[in-house]
Amino acid sequence: MKNIRDKKSKNKGKNFKRLDNNKSNIRGKLVTVDVVKTTIEGKGVVSYQGEELAVADLLEGETAVIAIDRQNGQLSAKVVELKRKSDRRVVSPCSYYEACGGCQLQHLSYKGQLDFKSDKAMEVLRGLVEVRGVLGMDDPWNYRNKNLATFAMDKGNRLASGFYQEFSHKIVEVEDCLIQDAEANAIIKTVSEMAGKFGLKAFDEDRGHGFLRHVLIRRGYYSGEVLVTLVVASSVFKGQGNFVRELVKRHSCIKSVVLNVNNKRGSVVLGREEKVIYGPGFIEDSLLGLSFRVSSSSFYQINTRQTEVLYTKARELAGLKGSERVIDAYCGTGTIGIIAAGQAKEVVGVELNRMAIRDAVSNARRNRVGNVSFVNQDAGEFMVGLDARCELFDVVFVDPPRSGCSLDFLRSLVKLGPERVVYISCSVESLARDLEFLKGFGYVGSDCFLVDLFPWTYHIEAVVLLEKVK
Ligand code: SAH
Repeated sequence: MKNIRDKKSKNKGKNFKRLDNNKSNIRGKLVTVDVVKTTIEGKGVVSYQGEELAVADLLEGETAVIAIDRQNGQLSAKVVELKRKSDRRVVSPCSYYEACGGCQLQHLSYKGQLDFKSDKAMEVLRGLVEVRGVLGMDDPWNYRNKNLATFAMDKGNRLASGFYQEFSHKIVEVEDCLIQDAEANAIIKTVSEMAGKFGLKAFDEDRGHGFLRHVLIRRGYYSGEVLVTLVVASSVFKGQGNFVRELVKRHSCIKSVVLNVNNKRGSVVLGREEKVIYGPGFIEDSLLGLSFRVSSSSFYQINTRQTEVLYTKARELAGLKGSERVIDAYCGTGTIGIIAAGQAKEVVGVELNRMAIRDAVSNARRNRVGNVSFVNQDAGEFMVGLDARCELFDVVFVDPPRSGCSLDFLRSLVKLGPERVVYISCSVESLARDLEFLKGFGYVGSDCFLVDLFPWTYHIEAVVLLEKVK
């Protein structure tokens, strides 16, 4: 595949000079610009002929020569040379940083990232809640417990693995991702090597032939257990037994291997059909001393160490005393509710995904938590139902997807009238919108903490306590 980077051109290690390396692909008009601010995605904003342009790899306060190109009426720009550098700029230790796009802030020091994320969150949440602090990591590398690689054949008909480039279907070959788990990186390498030996070809979506699409590796941070999910285009896997035997022999931490069949076009990784070909089909890990089951498709926060920081803060903000009835809305596999149950009278979790609910029920059982139950329903519909039955709850945890809560959900939440709402969000923008709505109905944001679950990317998690004004 033509977009897989030539191995020889890889420039590993700290001396990697991305700007120089890049000059060959530069097109367009060269101009010198000052960066006046940054976007929430961490791009530098510059002004060109009265238009604002967001340019990757530029920091506030920097001056740079950029190449500006116009294609199909759309302006795009690339950094050619830095004239004035920010003192927060660092050299990314990752050789794939620019081509990959999975991380956006590796040119900014870790301290600089935390400041950047809290400044942006404060800007967006101004007037709604006070941001009290940002909780970062001591060692912000190799933090992902969920690891993915995509396969493609390279020019030499060799199977290579890597990531889709941002907003594209092109693959950047990556051998060692610095935010993925180190053992997972090693397993990805083994799978690629073994695929060659077993004659397995990468799936070619355009031509509709080939077999291997992706490998998804989940590794328990505390347990060290590994679940390997091979995403393939057909359920017929010639040499399956030998392949699995050798893989498990080479990585004894592998507790389970699942074959997931996805023969659809598009960038959705997992298909619907799944077959366990080794072990129980899931792994176990723990969070705050409780044990959780993780399968290939269930939602599980990708940074275990920081999830514990987040859940501890959420539980603290909820201020549970033991007598409260609690809702865990958008509960996934029930983690927050099960962790809070020890300090509450009763917890009810609600979640749309049926598989996640199945895991939640099993998680409650495995931890012998008897005062939590789960409902498989749209969170908005569930809340409307509670309202109709005039049920009473004291505290509601809310942890929706990026898009935030539905209007139905928010309307019923205010009718339910819990004393406290602990809102966890991975998008400060949808959080701000929902806080604005809740503020109009007497819920005031009293505390907000940011937890860095995604170092080197622009993403940040926020946890907010809302209290009902008496
Ligand atoms: N609280 C969990 C999961 C948070 S992710 C944890 O900390 O692990 C958000 C969850 O919301 C996902 O599990 C997703 O399946 C679920 N979800 C998305 N839309 C929903 C809806 N309309 N109603 C209920 N759950 C929903």
